[in-house]
Amino acid sequence: MKILVINCGSSSLKYQLIDSEAEDVLAVGLCERIGIDGRLVHTPNGGEKRVFETPLPDHEAAVQAVLSALTNGEYGVIDSLSQIDAVGHRVVHGGERFTSSVVIDDAVIAAIRECNDLAPLHNPANLIGIDACRKLMPGVLMAAVFDTAFHQTMPKKAYTYALPYEYYDKYKLRRYGFHGTSHRYVSERAAAIAGLNYKDSRIIVCHLGNGASVCAVLNGNSVDTSMGLTPLEGLVMGTRSGDIDPAILEFIAKKEGKTLEEIMNLLNKKSGVYGLSGVSSDFRDLEAAAGEGNVRAKEATEVFVYRVAKYIGAYAAVMNGVDAIAFTAGLGENDKKIRAQICSYLGYLGVELDGSRNDVRAKETLICTDTSKVKVLVVPTNEELAIARDTAALVGQH
Ligand code: ADP
Repeated sequence: MKILVINCGSSSLKYQLIDSEAEDVLAVGLCERIGIDGRLVHTPNGGEKRVFETPLPDHEAAVQAVLSALTNGEYGVIDSLSQIDAVGHRVVHGGERFTSSVVIDDAVIAAIRECNDLAPLHNPANLIGIDACRKLMPGVLMAAVFDTAFHQTMPKKAYTYALPYEYYDKYKLRRYGFHGTSHRYVSERAAAIAGLNYKDSRIIVCHLGNGASVCAVLNGNSVDTSMGLTPLEGLVMGTRSGDIDPAILEFIAKKEGKTLEEIMNLLNKKSGVYGLSGVSSDFRDLEAAAGEGNVRAKEATEVFVYRVAKYIGAYAAVMNGVDAIAFTAGLGENDKKIRAQICSYLGYLGVELDGSRNDVRAKETLICTDTSKVKVLVVPTNEELAIARDTAALVGQH
């Protein structure tokens, strides 16, 4: 089956065409600057990357450009659109309604729209992408795969904020968590690689990219995760603060005369390791700067690492131990120094990192010693493949 996977943002649209039986990526690409001017970057499997500066006035034009590229005689990978069996859409927020991936119909669209308040930057953009695909591919099955769905198994004590209860009743204000598709995919792979029974295991996944979160996976179910109502909570991230004392908002507002909107922008876009270091949100730049003696870059990394170690400790506590810890996403997959620094806090759990096994990038690998009480792994995430698998499964059931 050929599944088109779409990840639609407000001005960008990422896509992959995946053969779900062979689990091969047939083409990958990205539409950028939608509604501004427009650019399509398209790479067929085994072929060279093509960049087209092409007007993309709206998302429908972007989807049309993707479909034209996929069927192009020279750099396309299919003969006609009828070869696309289904489309899998990444949707950021499914609220409490969606606990797994679903086939999209009018009722699902209405329910996703109801979650717009919870993810005002993401859900409307996801819906625009769905709408454009439905128009241009009528009759093709569309699936929604939610970032939040995997975390719907969290117990109430883990997702409840200690605020007046009426806010939960009125607005469903609670922890939802994100990166769920990644945490699900990586925890399953980690169990398989470590030789654990997924349904009888305690796994902590550290998804460390520009956005970062930790997830406690008990017997195959998410039981806690560090992101909250929004992706701002939890770890220190590239530009997000993660956990802070909420009273800081009032303090900054008074001292700096900032509005709430300005402070939210500061917490989301100007904080994290970027704000701490003043150098960059990218750990490669931080390491280079620290190597040249930049103290703030070094300290920013220390604060980041410390927070990850703290969450691992917390999640080992709530699961009464941990069998495996998996590192994934840009930083988790590629940065052996960060992994080693995090693991240096975990000796009390019986974690023993193997220095030479840890010298690996973006490859499924056990990076602990044979005697380590806890298995430690690198597991490259693959959200697009997980979306394609879910979509293919829904086609099978339909
Ligand atoms: P997101 O999808 O959240 O935007 P990624 O998962 O692509 O982020 O991760 C991006 C981050 O991963 C970069 O900001 C950088 O800090 C880190 N990263 C990526 N590649 C490397 C590398 N080779 N070495 C160290 N860090 C890396």
